[in-house]
Amino acid sequence: MDLSTVTHVTAARQRSDLAALGPTVVPLAGGSELFAYPRAHLTGLVDLHSFGWPALTVTGDGLSIAATCTIAELSRLPMRAGWAAHPLFYHCCTALFGSFKVWNVATVGGNLATSLPAGPMITLAVALDAELLVWRGDGSDEVVPAREFVTGDMTNVLAPNDVLRSIHVPLASLQARTAYRKIALSPLGRSGAVLAGLLLIDGTFVLTVTAATLHPVQLRYPALPAAEVLARDISAIDCWFTDAHGAADWRRAMGLLLGEEIRAELAGTATEAGRHS
Ligand SMILES: Cc1cc2nc3c(=O)[nH]c(=O)nc-3n(C[C@H](O)[C@H](O)[C@H](O)COP(=O)(O)OP(=O)(O)OC[C@H]3O[C@@H](n4cnc5c(N)ncnc54)[C@H](O)[C@@H]3O)c2cc1C
Repeated sequence: MDLSTVTHVTAARQRSDLAALGPTVVPLAGGSELFAYPRAHLTGLVDLHSFGWPALTVTGDGLSIAATCTIAELSRLPMRAGWAAHPLFYHCCTALFGSFKVWNVATVGGNLATSLPAGPMITLAVALDAELLVWRGDGSDEVVPAREFVTGDMTNVLAPNDVLRSIHVPLASLQARTAYRKIALSPLGRSGAVLAGLLLIDGTFVLTVTAATLHPVQLRYPALPAAEVLARDISAIDCWFTDAHGAADWRRAMGLLLGEEIRAELAGTATEAGRHS
């Protein structure tokens, strides 16, 4: 769709180019969300791709994903020795059912910034305890834990002139075992619930609930909890919501079912690992 009120697009090459951002001038990443709806309040866009940020950078302490990395690029993340969490990347990328056109332009940062409950890059970042580097409009940098970034249905901690720069996934999370479940009301429909479990090498278990709740919910335990403990804590979640992609009571039931499946799967892999050590 044409954004007919937009009169200028700035190609950002240095951070000072972001000074143009504000209520009527917004960052442009892949455009798959921006160009999907009329936005009569917009007068300008600042294209982030011209920064030329490398999509994926492996560092000594983990993986850095540029905000402009596309979902297609992330889905091809090469496997490295010891990265037990590697399959979770592909699972989360494929949780976004768009055509190949959407997959090839939609970015990780755009997905987080859009902050739909069914944002699969939100699931990925929260599940892997990622930290998000935010370039604040006043020129400062802020590192925000992914679990605190999304605050509600399409709301987050970004101010109008802020930019999400990158997502850092710590090495400990890359080395963790993961389990993943997703459900939707129809085979190609938007996710009604997406849950991911992380079992760190030190035994810590983290369950992330997304798509079924208004914002991501993380449950964290020093070791795998008993089924009843996990069920009690999932039941206590207070932000299940209803929309065209599922009713709140169905989402809560799916949270309980899929959360237990994840717990049981990771309990199985923990037993397996113990047997082989
Ligand atoms: C057919 C179809 C299916 C879709 N399915 C899903 C789905 O299942 N789940 C889902 O979550 N979304 C879905 N979307 C929405 C959208 O495609 C994705 O959220 C996508 O990841 C957005 O990324 P983008 O790079 O295209 O963002 P853009 O459209 O470029 O930007 C989206 C918003 O984020 C802002 N923004 C972008 N990058 C940054 C940044 N680095 N810092 C600050 N602000 C930024 C923009 O200003 C804009 O407000 C779908 C869209 C289509 C058309």
